[in-house]
Amino acid sequence: MSRPSFTNDNASYANLIPIPGMIPRQSSRFRGGGDSAFRTNFPANPFRVFTARQLDKIPQLELLSRDQRFSMKVVSSVLPFRMNQYVIDNLIDWGNIPEDPIFQLTFPQPGMLSPENFGRMADLIRGGASKTEIDAAATRIRAQLNPHPAGQQELNVPMLGDEAMEGMQHKYRETVLFFPSRGQTCHSYCTFCFRWAQFVGDKGLRFASHEAESLHAYLAAHPDVTDLLLTGGDPMVMKTRNLEDYLYSLANNPSLEHIQTVRIGTKSMTFWPHRFVTDDDADNMLRLLERLVKAGKHVALMAHYNHWREMETDIAREAIRRVRGTGAIIRSQGPALAHINDSADTWARTWRTQVKLGIVPYYMFVGRDTGARRYFEIPLVEAFEIYSGALKAVSGLGRTVRGPSMSAEPGKVEIQGVSEIRGEKVFVLRFIQGRNPDWAQRPFFAKFDEKAIWLDQLVPAFGEKEFFYEAEFRAMKENMAEALT
Ligand code: SF4
Repeated sequence: MSRPSFTNDNASYANLIPIPGMIPRQSSRFRGGGDSAFRTNFPANPFRVFTARQLDKIPQLELLSRDQRFSMKVVSSVLPFRMNQYVIDNLIDWGNIPEDPIFQLTFPQPGMLSPENFGRMADLIRGGASKTEIDAAATRIRAQLNPHPAGQQELNVPMLGDEAMEGMQHKYRETVLFFPSRGQTCHSYCTFCFRWAQFVGDKGLRFASHEAESLHAYLAAHPDVTDLLLTGGDPMVMKTRNLEDYLYSLANNPSLEHIQTVRIGTKSMTFWPHRFVTDDDADNMLRLLERLVKAGKHVALMAHYNHWREMETDIAREAIRRVRGTGAIIRSQGPALAHINDSADTWARTWRTQVKLGIVPYYMFVGRDTGARRYFEIPLVEAFEIYSGALKAVSGLGRTVRGPSMSAEPGKVEIQGVSEIRGEKVFVLRFIQGRNPDWAQRPFFAKFDEKAIWLDQLVPAFGEKEFFYEAEFRAMKENMAEALT
């Protein structure tokens, strides 16, 4: 079959889309560049990135004291750091550091390590320890930071026949998570990152798959699965032609027809909106999204937002406009975090901005029990107060957001409120999603605890011994462990 060619003067990306053909592996299935009806006047911008080794090359950091800069070196020797020029130049208010929320979101802060670990690492660096010594100390500290929260390494590994499917998780019946190997980084890193373990170069802490074929085989063998979530890192760091390997067949392979929803988890709308505007394959990315939409798929960009400031630049708004032009929906999600967004006003403004731009507020999470959590954590009761305070301050279209939600081992648990029942002050909880789908929507109650920050710190109310799901969950874990041995 000959390779199709296309003209580029149509009003829709879909009009540019070829019939699936035999196309060389290196090329996108879509041809053409920045000449569509979604033409943009933004200049191309080279992507420039800084890692821990290049902290000294960021001139704005001269505004900090020597001690503050040394602290950054200490923390970034343990936790991942990656930053790009767009974020430095456009999202941080350098007149307000270190308090600036985007500075806190992206640059290492001393409180991210415990005083003991910070001191140990600082001594090694000050004393001129070798790279081997520093790396060994970093590995020991990382092991204390719960690198794989919510049992994601042991509990969620799907099987195809006898084979464990690397780079996939199948935690809930309807949804498969896929971690493409080429998408295991991000345009910048968030300091609170719950997937930080994947970025520190320890292969034992990574899970990622090379195989589009194994993904498709697994999905074809599981007709109950309706949702595919491509996640990372950030799948949007991939070239469009690589992303197509995973997604293109969903639009035309009858054995994958049951996959109705394609979700792509991404922070690129914040950290590199050029991905959808000026990158040389930005238009092809949009064509791919539109192709899936036209094939009848619900395509959702699960955009990670932590603060309204991320949506204030012209290029961020242009990226949103262009993605929405494909028919894909942008849903927003992110955790409530100390130092970044722990106020109802911040969340209300974030959700109002999103509604104005056509983004659907979707989830407020509780920060996960991993990595630098000690610095970012807020008590569950405070997260609930922020959520309910913000919700009251937005119109009905902003009240689509669920939360605060914990992505815990047994499932996604939402705090629905604080109440007094039979004279006892309680948290009212419910599963949004459970490992057993029957758990969803069932309310349950925990003793009120003003200090609790995660599900495992809550105890059942009314003198009950355990929560309703715990015995069944224990049995599930035993079964899963047996299946993997
Ligand atoms: S975008 Fe997500 S995966 Fe990437 S650094 Fe931030 S939290 Fe981690």
